[in-house]
Amino acid sequence: MWNHDSDEDGPTLARRCVVLVGVFVPLLGGIAAIALMWPLGGVGFLNLGLLLGGWLLTGLGVTVGLHRLFTHRSFDAPRWVQAIWLALGAAAAQGPPLEWCATHRRHHELSDQAGDPHSPHQHGAGWWGAIRGLMHAHFGWFFVHNVSPSTLQRYVPDLLQDPLLVRVSSLYPLWILLGLLLPALIGLLATGSWMGAWLGLLWGGLARICFVHHITWSINSICHTFGSQDFASDDQSRNNFICGAFGHGEGWHNNHHAFPYSARHGLQWWQFDLSWLVIQAMKCLGLAWSIRTPSAKAIEARRLVREPAPLASADTADTGARS
Ligand SMILES: [Zn+2]
Ligand SMILES: [Zn+2]
Repeated sequence: MWNHDSDEDGPTLARRCVVLVGVFVPLLGGIAAIALMWPLGGVGFLNLGLLLGGWLLTGLGVTVGLHRLFTHRSFDAPRWVQAIWLALGAAAAQGPPLEWCATHRRHHELSDQAGDPHSPHQHGAGWWGAIRGLMHAHFGWFFVHNVSPSTLQRYVPDLLQDPLLVRVSSLYPLWILLGLLLPALIGLLATGSWMGAWLGLLWGGLARICFVHHITWSINSICHTFGSQDFASDDQSRNNFICGAFGHGEGWHNNHHAFPYSARHGLQWWQFDLSWLVIQAMKCLGLAWSIRTPSAKAIEARRLVREPAPLASADTADTGARS
């Protein structure tokens, strides 16, 4: 059995300092952007566009790229498309892509059990325990969870063989820097002023990172606490409409834990899943193939039964039909 001791040593002091900067500087930037709305008379279309455009692009970099394409191998794509998704996902400043994928695979393996990097459960009884758990799952785990070389070997041996992923991952700070400088440059060119550049950096850079951070982290905290469970997934994962909408489809988290390989998380027509729509659009353009989804039989076999059990035989070994 895999020994997690090397990770339980925790991150070094230097790494904790980097995490502290990574978590709180975007948060302070987001607060500053909102505070400046009063003296500046609002946010303006340009800065709102930079925020929402950056949220869409880097958010999808996390959901379509880091999560569905690389962590779960839910579909395949041309190398240049993979590179774009990887760079966009890295610009979300949630850790180097290799570490992101390793941590997430470990989360699936040990979901809500001992060793899960960011479960909100088992942090004490009562309201205080619940609050502590939510804080840990949201961002506290960054300060106690380590991703050692042996963790990478254990969870992402396939990805370590991919030169593109290793290269993009090693250039992680560059993608963050570009994600900060590009909106500043757009602000500068669009307004012809340094104030425009500063506001571009603030809204399209720091506030955007903050926004995407807390949406992604809500999948770890809120979507393992609040929402409905439609499938037997052996954990506390939940489907949450709000996280589904803001998280580009990732809020259908109980669906995802039931069928981790599936490129589609919103399994019902009304479960809005932007990432799935993007993958479908990529397929139409010939930019995605080998797309894995669960069969109707597999979905029904795992559905939590609230009425008399259906006669359908269980097919939990289903690993997804490719289309
Ligand atoms: Zn989860
Ligand atoms: Zn996953």
